[in-house]
Formats: sequence, structure tokens, C-alpha cells
Amino acid sequence: MTDQFLENSLAVFADRSLTGRALQPAGWDNVAGLVCGFGDRLAGPPAGTWTIARQAHGTDVIDVDGVEVGTGASLPLEADALVLRRPGLVGGVRTADCVPLLLMAPGRGWAAVVHAGWRGTIAGIATVAVDRARRDGICATELRAALGPSIGACCYEVSSEIGERFARASLPVLSGQGSDGRPHLDLRAINAVLLERAGLPTEAIQYCGPCTRCARDRYHSFRAEPELSGRQISWIGWEDRTPLRDR
Ligand SMILES: [Zn+2]
Repeated sequence: MTDQFLENSLAVFADRSLTGRALQPAGWDNVAGLVCGFGDRLAGPPAGTWTIARQAHGTDVIDVDGVEVGTGASLPLEADALVLRRPGLVGGVRTADCVPLLLMAPGRGWAAVVHAGWRGTIAGIATVAVDRARRDGICATELRAALGPSIGACCYEVSSEIGERFARASLPVLSGQGSDGRPHLDLRAINAVLLERAGLPTEAIQYCGPCTRCARDRYHSFRAEPELSGRQISWIGWEDRTPLRDR
């Protein structure tokens, strides 16, 4: 399975020209040393030391600093959030409708990249990532969050059962919107609620980019292409500022 995953993730990189322009969260370009972006069908992470884990729609977090990254792109580990603290490391998540969430603390050298589909969202992956920051000595009020291109409420019709699960967790559900009256979810708004409950100020949370299904020309969307969908990569990390001769 790991081999299959590696093959899939390398294939994503192999057939993308990496010449597109990734979306950058507003105002994050002035954070010293930060490297980040939301990829699309063309844009991907910069070449170099980046890593990605096997995503499992769960709440496991890996601190990449503590892992031997090696030369490959993929960690043989399951996680839906990667914490990046060491200069020179970049972590990514693969999505096609799920929410890519970037978190970082300016001036503290702490960042995380999170994959949040509906399962990870209801399981609280956003909350778990903020808890990890707290354990690393970062206050929630120091964090900034960016929620990237993902399926919007316009296109995300779910079963009544899934809608009820979110309603029971006091998370927003748009009821009766679907073609047959089924509920719709706005996964970004729901993750924003979770981040606020975890202590992030509202103004520290931003949305980047459109609904992936509506903007399927630019983004992979599982709902738009269930058989064919690839994945875009979103990433965050810190530049290696060591002079080349000293590496
Ligand atoms: Zn849409």
C-alpha cells in the first residue's frame, strides 16, 4: 500500500509542470523564512526537501522534525497533519475537495499543514493541530490559519446522516439545500468554527481560493471527476537559511 501511495504521489509530481502560480495566503509573504502555498493542477511545492504522509482521514499528527525524512517524498506513516519546525523542511497534503489547512505562528518558527475532509473535520483534526501547537509552547492567539481551495457549500451535498452528525456537534449545517432536500456542508466554515473554538481570533483565519468543484478547470475535484481525479498539493515549511557551502 505504501508503494502504491508513493507511486501515486510521485505521479502527481511527475505529470505536473510546476509552472503554475500557487495561491498564497494574504499577508503571509512578509513572514521571514516561511514557504507555503496552495497548489492546483499546475502549481506545486518548490523542489527540495519536502515530505508528505499517508492520509487516513484521522487525527494523527506527525512532527516532521522527529522523523528521518530521507530522500523520498513520502513518509511511510499515516497522518493528516504535519508539523514543521526545522528550517529546510516543507510538508504537504494532497487534496481534491477536502480542505487543505495551513497554520503558522509568525516569529515562532512553527507551522503545520492539515488535511481535513468531512471525517477528519468531525473528528477534530483542526483542534488537534492547535493542541499540538499549544504543547509546543505556542498560544492559539499567536496562530494564523489559511483554509485553501476545497469544495464549497454550493457543491457539497451530503447524506442526512452525515448532516446530523455535524448538527449534533453544534457545527453549521445548511439544511434542505440539495436537489432532494439533503443537507450541504461548508467544510471551510466548519473548520473555521473549530479553530475559533480552539482559541484562534476570527481575524487570524482566512479563506483562500474558490470551490474546487466549481473551479474544476484549475483544481482537481473528486466530486467533479470521481473516476479520474488527481490531487493538488498544498504545503508549508521553513527555508533553509544555511549558506550552501555549510550544508
Ligand atoms: Zn461549488
